[in-house]
Amino acid sequence: TQYVFRFGGGVSDGGKGDKNLLGGKGANLAEMASIGLPVPPGFTISTEMCTRYYEEGEAFPDSLRTEVAGGIAHIEGITGKAFGDAADPLLVSVRSGARVSMPGMMDTVLNLGLNDATVEGLAQVAGDPRFAWDSYRRFIQMYADVVLELDHGRFEEALEIAKEDQGFYLDTELTADDLKKLVVEYKALVEELWGKPFPQDVHDQLWGAVAAVFGSWQAERAKVYRRLNDIPGDWGTAVNVQAMVFGNMGETSATGVAFTRDPSTGANAYYGEFLINAQGEDVVAGIRTPQYLTRAAREAANAKPASMEEAMPEVYGELARVFDLLERHYRDMQDIEFTVERGKLWMLQTRSGKRTAKAALKIAVDMANDGLITQQQAIARVDPSALDQLLHPTLDPEAPRDVLTKGLPASPGAASGKVVFDADSAERAAANGDSVILVRTETSPEDIHGMHAAKGILTARGGMTSHAAVVARGMGRPCVSGAGALSIKAADKVMRVGAGDSWREVREGDILTIDGSTGEVMLGAVPTVQPELSGDFAALMKWADAVRRLRVRANAETPADCRTAREFGAEGIGLCRTEHMFFEGSRITAVREMILADSEAGRRAALAKLLPEQRADFVEIFEVMVGLPCTIRLLDPPLHEFLPHQEAEFEDVAAATGITVDKLKRRAAELHEFNPMLGHRGCRLGVTYPEIYEMQARAIFEAACIVADRSGKAPVPEVMVPLVATRRELELMKAVVDRAAAAVFAEHGSTIDYLVGTMIELPRAALRAGDIADQAEFFSFGTNDLTQTTLGVSRDDAARFLSVYVEKGIYARDPFVSLDVEGVGELIEMAAERGRGTRPDIKLGICGEHGGDPASIAFCETIGLDYVSASPYRVPIARLAAAQAAL
Ligand code: ADP
Ligand code: MG
Ligand code: MG
Repeated sequence: TQYVFRFGGGVSDGGKGDKNLLGGKGANLAEMASIGLPVPPGFTISTEMCTRYYEEGEAFPDSLRTEVAGGIAHIEGITGKAFGDAADPLLVSVRSGARVSMPGMMDTVLNLGLNDATVEGLAQVAGDPRFAWDSYRRFIQMYADVVLELDHGRFEEALEIAKEDQGFYLDTELTADDLKKLVVEYKALVEELWGKPFPQDVHDQLWGAVAAVFGSWQAERAKVYRRLNDIPGDWGTAVNVQAMVFGNMGETSATGVAFTRDPSTGANAYYGEFLINAQGEDVVAGIRTPQYLTRAAREAANAKPASMEEAMPEVYGELARVFDLLERHYRDMQDIEFTVERGKLWMLQTRSGKRTAKAALKIAVDMANDGLITQQQAIARVDPSALDQLLHPTLDPEAPRDVLTKGLPASPGAASGKVVFDADSAERAAANGDSVILVRTETSPEDIHGMHAAKGILTARGGMTSHAAVVARGMGRPCVSGAGALSIKAADKVMRVGAGDSWREVREGDILTIDGSTGEVMLGAVPTVQPELSGDFAALMKWADAVRRLRVRANAETPADCRTAREFGAEGIGLCRTEHMFFEGSRITAVREMILADSEAGRRAALAKLLPEQRADFVEIFEVMVGLPCTIRLLDPPLHEFLPHQEAEFEDVAAATGITVDKLKRRAAELHEFNPMLGHRGCRLGVTYPEIYEMQARAIFEAACIVADRSGKAPVPEVMVPLVATRRELELMKAVVDRAAAAVFAEHGSTIDYLVGTMIELPRAALRAGDIADQAEFFSFGTNDLTQTTLGVSRDDAARFLSVYVEKGIYARDPFVSLDVEGVGELIEMAAERGRGTRPDIKLGICGEHGGDPASIAFCETIGLDYVSASPYRVPIARLAAAQAAL
């Protein structure tokens, strides 16, 4: 097997299709080289080597040494420099690169190949001793940190002291001699902390770094990241070894990062940051404040330091051409890293840029409109779940706010919560159900779990491309970065905002609001407003609606929910629960009267009070949903949920019925159930007390007739009988409903169309679906209960063990969030088939939580259901997911 793949100098052993083998970084370096972009030559050691490295007990096969030697020779041939050559040394970077970009992996080592001898050669060749010694001290510092894993604080301290000794503020002010002294100190530090001298042999340096990259694949923080993002542990990482180019060779050199479009808003404008006379991670590390790429961005931000467009117009022009070329080549927004060495541009990385949901939407729609991608590709580009970010409220612009300070708008959206100053506290507080804002000076990969737990992230340092900003955008967490007025004492759980006489203090537990779209940081909670659903959102939804086959309905039972659902594009109601209506206002007393009555006459008297109320509810709902199908579920929960508990509640019922409190209490005790979820509920209520369902059916049909008269257009009620296990149950209940319909239509002198069907939520119902379909005109899969009853797991008690089940791979995902396709899915598929066998035109839908989950929706598409039904806010997610499932 070949493990080493070269790129650069007219050679490309791989390309963008080889991400699995070469990692994302390596595949794209090879691709850029092959389309003629200026890429420093190098080679990639494949991910297969990483796997083999672990299989063989963390050792390299001899063949790899030969192949790597060939790779080094490739670089030497193109650069004309030799690795370890004291006169004109080749320096390389060693970079990790998995299939997907992964914080938690080893950081890059730059300037590898420097030692006490080659540093002199570099100084000679570059004609710049300061540059050479700066590179050497950076190399020792990085190598000590990421390869030897020594305490980097000690090295930073030494650097700070060196600057303070001279009264300097910036690294760049240190002279060659200062740096030379620093190198001596650094080497002494390595020996002290590591117990061995800093490796002078350049090959030892290289193999040490390669082993560190592979080693980092199994580092704790990498594992955490993989777990949170469903990345398999056996993918492995690749290693990229690449000739160094230098952004720290003076005023005509620079390094930068850029996006071909704005990753926050999606605007079609170059977007990025760069630093003159700097190397590598200086831009994202927040050591110096980076400068803007374009003049427009600088002016918009009212910043002084020249943009790249102004400071280096020629190289900027070249960069802009590369951006356009890359976007056309990859047909997607790119996230790019580049370096300018003495006026020459070098490309060091490109990948599809992470973006906010808003940007994803805008970019997909813009690119489709510009013909760069098709409408179908645009549909596929947007993650349905990410739409959630857009559908939720933003800060009310009218609301008063106590603005503490302003940072950079690093990841949009608004969040309020209690302040915490470290990741573990964030995780703990979130586990207790608190909303928290994680506040850090800057974040690092060790903070990932806390960022995940937090509602929002605030940092004092770092730009728009800092770790905090990039990770927060990926997670969809609002983030404000680089709020320079904050001075944070994490150990004391307190921060100060501002300076001079006007500073204010914020302690752990205080409430903060951050607005990741403006950068504002506010004390206290600020109210929010609903989002705008026109423009790009509407455009993409229209395309999605044109390709999807599945209909999308909403689970809604109040007129307000129904209106929201329609605004979000619901094509009907898939589940209108009627039990909530029984709790409203004074109705509960009538309901209790009915439950506690000991005769049909008593029950009917109470139901007569409920009829007009229930009818009024349905009138309101039908008016919103006029012309659309509405599935209304007859009473489902165990009666005991409605029972009175407090003395005063019993007294209310006594007063309404004239039955004594004592007698009522005895009746309530009789109704006690040991396992109510499997008790007297669902159609069992209708079987024992048909008058309940009769009243509900009457309310539905009377309401439908009223709305039909008023609007000239009838709703289409679909009356759903819950918790059916047998054909006979449904037969009895259907008769009750049909009788009520016939009576209402006779009184009213007209008829409307309606259906009677059932929820399939018990395994027996799924098994006997063929039978049941003889009575049912539709099935709605009630996947919440069907999951509980199939798995034998109570949803309310699952929290204690289900996360362990997911962690141990027993279930791939929480089966109450994403349908257990193998188990519950098989029952659904079978029931659908059997139902259709009996009644070919039977209407099939799903109405559990799963109706808003993209993976579950994809399954519904494959088995050909007619519709999915989701909560109102998830309706757009379902529409897009349904379209993607149909592509
Ligand atoms: P990450 O995956 O964390 O972005 P990279 O491997 O891309 O790490 O390296 C980070 C930065 O280091 C790059 O953006 C670039 O500025 C610098 N760098 C990496 N390799 C080289 C190189 N061969 N020459 C100059 N700079 C490099
Ligand atoms: Mg990095
Ligand atoms: Mg990079």
